Amino acid sequence: MSFELRVDAERWRRGLRALTESTPGIVPVIKGNGYGFGRDLLAAEAADLGVGSIAVGTYAEVPGALKAFAGDVMVLSPWRPFDGDVVYDKRLIHTLGRVDDIAALAADHADSRVIIEGETSMARHGFDRHELAAAVEALGDLKVEGFAIHLPMTGHNLAEAESWAAALAASQVETTTFFVSHLTPDELATIRERRPHLDVRPRIGTTLWLGDLGALSVRATVLDRHQLARGERVGYRQRSMPRDGHLLIIAGGTSHGIGLEAPKASAGAIQRGKSLAKGGLEAAGFSLSPFTIDGKQRWFAEPPHMQASMVFLPASAAVPEVGDTVEVAVRFTTATFDAVVLA
Ligand SMILES: *Cc1c(COP(=O)(O)O)cnc(C)c1O
Repeated sequence: MSFELRVDAERWRRGLRALTESTPGIVPVIKGNGYGFGRDLLAAEAADLGVGSIAVGTYAEVPGALKAFAGDVMVLSPWRPFDGDVVYDKRLIHTLGRVDDIAALAADHADSRVIIEGETSMARHGFDRHELAAAVEALGDLKVEGFAIHLPMTGHNLAEAESWAAALAASQVETTTFFVSHLTPDELATIRERRPHLDVRPRIGTTLWLGDLGALSVRATVLDRHQLARGERVGYRQRSMPRDGHLLIIAGGTSHGIGLEAPKASAGAIQRGKSLAKGGLEAAGFSLSPFTIDGKQRWFAEPPHMQASMVFLPASAAVPEVGDTVEVAVRFTTATFDAVVLA
């Protein structure tokens, strides 16, 4: 019984190598659910790629990363004095974005390695460019490993990256290492050409690990099936089924990240009217599931359960056997698999 990610390992690794080779200075980002693969698996792949550093999202992810990867580990979330569970390790690089934090880290862990972050149009973390002088002032003996900017995903980030490169050059921040996120290969090339003294280091997760979706397939096992007559009631909510067909119980539920969006409870009158005009099960308040069976995405009979989903299959469709697997569309950054199989 399984909800699993199958990886065509040779093809996937070919993509990893190609991107790594064409992106000098790349820092693989390994955070959250490990983009569906799990963080330890990705850390081992990063080591095989020969990179010297990786980036994690949070301090909670640090101990595992230090164990699974022998090089440097940078933390994308800024260091804060109230983070109780910080491991201080020679291979760890902290991100700093507030003057008070710099002063606090410099006071208690003066030999730490740090990255200074600029606050871009993302407006998530970092220093305003006018604060950089005060930031430098507070550094004490902290060792600055670079300057970082995190850009939005809208594309067109070149102008902003350039203006930060200029702000860095004009500042007293003593580094020529420039960590960037979400620049295209062309934008990276342009920055490198215009600022040849900078060591530009792209921090990349999605485009690296999920750059070749054709190498990945997600399969869910059919755990059970029941024949249904129209009007028969099923599930926690005892909904009546709209037609004759089959009910399939398929591995994969909320615990795997399936169907996190709320099922349509009561759509507004206009939306409901539109759906009625289109006809079909949407009008009856059913939600489309991510499971594809007999060539079509099928409807949930009711919202997904923790470990399994109940899916309605009309009588006209070919019915899979118990034990067969079906294809599932997932969002990899929120999916949790029972197994990741590299073959
Ligand atoms: C998550 C993250 C990245 C990587 O983002 P992807 O879209 O997965 O490439 C890069 N930089 C920062 C600061 C991040 O938080």
